[in-house]
Amino acid sequence: MLRLDRVSKFYSAGGVVSSGFSKVSLNFDRGEFVAITGESGSGKSTLLNVISGLDSFEEGEMYVEGAPTSGFSGRDMEDYRKKYIGNIFQTFNLINSYTVYQNVEMVLLLAGYDRNEIKDKVRDIIKKVGLSEYEKTKASKLSGGQKQRVAIARALARETPIIVADEPTGNLDSKSAADVIKLLHDVSEDKLVIIVTHNYDQVEPYVTRKITMHDGRVVEDRKIRTPQVSEISQAGGTSAPEAEGFEKKRKETKTPGSLSFGNTLRLGVRNTFNLPAKFMLLLFVFLFLCGGTFMAYSSFKNLGAAAAGSGYTDYFTEARPDRIVVTKTDRSLFTDEDYEKLAALENVKSVEKRDLLMDTEIVFNSDEIGYYITAAPVRAEGLENLLTAGRMPEADDEAIFLFAEDDPYISDSMMDLALDEVSQTFDNNSGTGYSDMKIVGYGYLTEEMEEYYDDTTTWIDGVAGFTDAKLEDFETAKAASGSSVEIDIGNKIITAENYGYFNVVTGPSMEKGEVLVPEEMAYMGGDGYGKASELTLNAVNPYETKSADLKITKTYNQQNVATVVGVQDYEAVAGNVYISREDYNDLFGNAEYQASVIADDSRYARDVRAEIEDAGFDAFYVYEGYASSNASMTAILNTFRTVILAGVLAVLFFVSYFIIKLIFKSRNSYFSIARMLGATKENCAALLRWDMFVVFNIAYFILAALVAGAGREAYPAPSILISLAGYIDSWDYVILYAVLCILAVLLAARYSRQMFKKTAMNAHREEV
Ligand code: ADP
Ligand code: MG
Repeated sequence: MLRLDRVSKFYSAGGVVSSGFSKVSLNFDRGEFVAITGESGSGKSTLLNVISGLDSFEEGEMYVEGAPTSGFSGRDMEDYRKKYIGNIFQTFNLINSYTVYQNVEMVLLLAGYDRNEIKDKVRDIIKKVGLSEYEKTKASKLSGGQKQRVAIARALARETPIIVADEPTGNLDSKSAADVIKLLHDVSEDKLVIIVTHNYDQVEPYVTRKITMHDGRVVEDRKIRTPQVSEISQAGGTSAPEAEGFEKKRKETKTPGSLSFGNTLRLGVRNTFNLPAKFMLLLFVFLFLCGGTFMAYSSFKNLGAAAAGSGYTDYFTEARPDRIVVTKTDRSLFTDEDYEKLAALENVKSVEKRDLLMDTEIVFNSDEIGYYITAAPVRAEGLENLLTAGRMPEADDEAIFLFAEDDPYISDSMMDLALDEVSQTFDNNSGTGYSDMKIVGYGYLTEEMEEYYDDTTTWIDGVAGFTDAKLEDFETAKAASGSSVEIDIGNKIITAENYGYFNVVTGPSMEKGEVLVPEEMAYMGGDGYGKASELTLNAVNPYETKSADLKITKTYNQQNVATVVGVQDYEAVAGNVYISREDYNDLFGNAEYQASVIADDSRYARDVRAEIEDAGFDAFYVYEGYASSNASMTAILNTFRTVILAGVLAVLFFVSYFIIKLIFKSRNSYFSIARMLGATKENCAALLRWDMFVVFNIAYFILAALVAGAGREAYPAPSILISLAGYIDSWDYVILYAVLCILAVLLAARYSRQMFKKTAMNAHREEV
C-alpha cells in the first residue's frame, strides 16, 4: 500500500545542502508493525515525516496505493494526510489547554464530522486507551504516559490505515513506555504501524519487521514475524494488487470532509476562553484599539464641529450647542399638545415657544455716558427679586438689566449713571427695531442664568427684561428680518433687488390700511403722469406668504421728511415704508411656526434631535447647520481631519498588531498541531478570526457600555469618558462597530498570513 522507490530528502540551509536520507526503497503493507531504529541523526524522523506527508522529498518516488505522490499539490498532500496518516510524537503534541475529550474530538471536527454524532465514538476511543475517568481533565494535568495514550486515541480517531510514531516512548519511564507500546499494538490491528525507536527491546515483542538506518541509508530490513491480518482484509489478499484492496477500504470509510462553519465557530470560541491569561491580554489590546478608535473618531467629529462652528447662519444667530430648532413637517402652527410632546422627550431641559427671541440680541447704546451693552431679551415679570437698584419697567420703553456680579466691564456705579438715561436700542441681529429705551432698574444674574448664558455662542453682557408687549415687538421685528418683502404697486413688483434698499417699518400715527412711501416709489408705480394711490405688501417668510392691501395716503421726500416723518435726516430714513402697527403685526407677527428645544446637555443634542424627528417633527441642529464663511478653509479642515483620523487608525492598527503578535506567539504551537491534525490554512485562519472576533466584540461592548453609561451619568465615570460620550451618538456606535469589525478581521488576516506562510512541518519544527 505504501512504496518508496529510491527516495531522497535533502535539506538546504544557508546554501549548504545536507542529506536527511538518500535512496531509500521500502515497501509497506497493512497489518505490519514496523520498528525503525538507528543512531541519532541517521534520518529516521526525516523518513517518517516524508511518509506522513509532513515533509516533501526531492528525489525518487513514493507510491500510495500504487499512485505516485510527487505530483501532489499542497491540497492533495493535506487530503492524503487526513485519509491515511495518524501521527504520534515523542513530545505528544497535545493541546494542553484542551481536555482529553476535546483533544480527541478536535481531529474529528477538523475532518468535518458533526459534533453530536461523534460523542459516543470519542468516548469509546478514550475508553479503549483506558482514560475514561480523565475525559474532562485538561491535557496539561496528565502524566507522560497518559498524554501519550491521548495521542494514541487521537491517532485512532480518524480510523486512518497508517499510524506513524516518532519515538513515542522517548519521554516516558520504562513502565509507561511498555504500556504505551502494548496499547498501540492492541488497538492497531489491521493497520500499518511504523514506530521509530532507539530502544528496540521495548518493541521487540510486537514487531513484524525491523528496519535499521545508518547515515541516511537503510542498512537492515528484517522480517521478525508474520503480520496478523484479519479475514476481511485478507480477502483482498496478497495476490490481488494491493492498491485494489486498499481502494475498497477507502471507499468504505467516509471521505474526509472539512471543518464545518459551526465547528469553526465552536472551536474559535473555545480558543477564545480556554487560556485565561491570553484572553485577558487580548481583551486589553482590543479595549485599547476600541478606546483609541473612539477617541480618534470623537476628535474627528470635534474638529468637524469646529469647522462647522467657524461659519455663520443668516437666520439663527443663537447657535448654542444644546439648541434644536423644531418645526412641524406640514409647516402648521404648534399646538399645546405639540409643546407637551416635545417637553416630554428624554434629555429635554426646556421648550422655548416663539423662540425667535433667542436669535435676538438687544443693544443699549448711549453716547452720553459711553456705554454699549448687549443683552439677551427676556420677560421682566418674575425677575423682581433680582433687582438691586431701580424699579421694574412700567412702560414698553423701559427695561431692566441683569449682569454677572463680578463682571469686570459693568459695575454698579456705571449702571447708576445709566439708570433712567435714554439710550438708543436696536437688535444687533435683525438690524431693525431702533427705538429709545430707558434702563430703569438693574440687578445680578443668578448662577443658573450665568451658566445658561455661558453656553451661548454670541457674546452678551447680560440679560435685559422687557414688558411682554415690547418683547412681541422684538419678535415681530426679528420675524420681519426673516421675511422678504415685495411691493406690488401699479403693475410693477418692487423688490429689494430692483429698487435698492427699502425697509418696512411701523410709522408714527399710521392708521390701519394706510402706507407712507418715498415719493419716487409712488411715481414708479404710477401710470407715468402721477403717483400710484395704492399698493399690496407681500411678506414671504419661510412658512407662508402674507399680504396687505394698503392705501398710499402720503409720500415723503427730501424736503418734507421733517414734517411728514418727523425726522430731520432724510438719509437715515430713505427707503423706509411706514405702515401701522396692526398691519405690521399681521404681516410679520411671530406666529408659532417654530419652537426651540433645549437639551439637558449639549452632549445629548444629537440624540434629542433624533428623538424629535422620531416624534414626527422637523428638527434642525443650528450648531451643526452653520453655513461656512469660508468654504475652502472648511474643505482644508475636513481633509486634514480625515487624514489625521486615517493616520491614527493606522497607528492603532499596527501597535495592536505587534502586541497581538507577541500574545499569539504562545498560540503558534496550537496552530501547528492543528495543521498536523488536518486543519488547512483556511481553517486556522478562520479559527483565529473567530478567536479575535469574539474578544473584539466583548471589548467593544464593554467600551460602548462604559461610554454610553458615562453619557447618561449611570455611574461616576472619569471625565474623559463623559466627554467622549458627548461626541458619540447612536449612529456613531454602529459606524464605530463596523469600522472596528473591519480592523479586527484585518488584524486576524494579517496575522494568519504571517504565521501560515510556513509549511506545517516548518511551523512545527520552530515550536519544538
Ligand atoms: P534521527 O531522527 O534519526 O535522529 P533526523 O531525521 O532528525 O535523524 O535527521 C537526519 C539528518 O537530517 C541529520 O543529519 C540532521 O542533522 C538533518 N536534519 C534534520 N532536520 C533538519 C532540518 N530541518 N534542516 C537541516 N537538516 C536537518
Ligand atoms: Mg528523530
